[in-house]
Amino acid sequence: MKTDYPNFSIETETVHADQPTNDPFRSHVMPIYQTSTFSFDSVESGRKFFAHEKGGGTHAYTRLGNPTTDQLEEALAKLEGGLLYEEEEITGMVFGSGMAAISTAIIAVAKQGSVVSQPTLYGCTGQFLKEDAPELGINTHFVDLNDLDALEEVLQEDPKVKIIYGETMANPTMDVCNIPAVAELASSYNVVFMVDNTFASPYHVRPLELGADMVLHSTTKYLNGHGTLIGGALVAPQSMLEQYNLPVYRKNLGGILGPFESWLNLIGLKTFTLRMRRHAENAMKVAEFLEQHESVSKVHYPGLASHPDHKLASKFFEKGFSGVVSFELDKGFDAGVHLMEHVQLCTLAVSLGTADTLIQHPASMTHAVIDEETKREAGITDGLIRLAVGIENVEDIIQDLKQALTQYEPAPAAV
Ligand code: PLP
Repeated sequence: MKTDYPNFSIETETVHADQPTNDPFRSHVMPIYQTSTFSFDSVESGRKFFAHEKGGGTHAYTRLGNPTTDQLEEALAKLEGGLLYEEEEITGMVFGSGMAAISTAIIAVAKQGSVVSQPTLYGCTGQFLKEDAPELGINTHFVDLNDLDALEEVLQEDPKVKIIYGETMANPTMDVCNIPAVAELASSYNVVFMVDNTFASPYHVRPLELGADMVLHSTTKYLNGHGTLIGGALVAPQSMLEQYNLPVYRKNLGGILGPFESWLNLIGLKTFTLRMRRHAENAMKVAEFLEQHESVSKVHYPGLASHPDHKLASKFFEKGFSGVVSFELDKGFDAGVHLMEHVQLCTLAVSLGTADTLIQHPASMTHAVIDEETKREAGITDGLIRLAVGIENVEDIIQDLKQALTQYEPAPAAV
């Protein structure tokens, strides 16, 4: 929802994102409206609210909307809308998790149609599309979205495709989606192009400006930035959200974010641009260090000239390449476990986007019980490490990795 508040640069908007424009007590920081319901001052006011007529109550029930949540939604619309926010009505909708945003958007738009997506996806999105969506009558196809001929073939063969679903950067290979090219194809086939922009964040890439139709987020990550909440967001032109009845789907599937989490996220946004700049600067230096290290056989980071999508990413990534680096240890599984057990500064944890550096070894942790074929499809090798680089002094991060990497001595082969 647009207000009269003038648009400033992203750095200024985010610092002021938590300031209410019409709080009755002139609160400097948006209060947490921790209430499930709102009273009406008359029957007429209630009637008008439910009839969507002007002049009625502004809020009725927090599952439908809440002032603290509205404030966050407007901030995210400005952030992801970017230049488009000035031109058309861009709206943010927040959800109780990234997966709530993703599943609600897919269900609402795909209906009985099909979805085309990429083979490497965030694990739960992949599982939802491969296992749950078909049970709901939604057919799914998986192709490399950057292979435009293969993508077009699917669009020609299956006229029921309603959604192309991509991720700006795919974990763990950090392959970058050619958003402008896919958007052009999607639009020529009248298909909705959804992009999960969690890894890049709107500091680096704004898919709507590049032609995507809907943007999704796990706000759990960079947008909150402190690891204190689970949340999700969908940002799109208001007309498109209405066309697919998304406010009604969110109301009835019930996945809205609560006021306390919305408030935490607003506070996190204040430092968003500073954090993102530092995440990207640190990640670049860590990636360069790792690329030179003798125990590391490969580094996946699109900021490196060696990454296959470096040139593509350089066309539309602004101010760096975000904060996640993955790399492969040439001594495999045991070297990965050893690294996890010897880091002192990096926190052994899944997730990303926190101020501190998180490290994990998928083969011994998240993917320990996953079969070999699924791991191969997901790009998980025995020595793969995922590092969500934080905003500490980068020399400390590098020093920690160096000391933990150099200690490893493989056990002598059994005779
Ligand atoms: N999308 C991406 C790229 C993610 O990495 C994640 C979680 O790690 C999600 C979506 C799901 O978000 P959430 O955990 O907030 O449901």
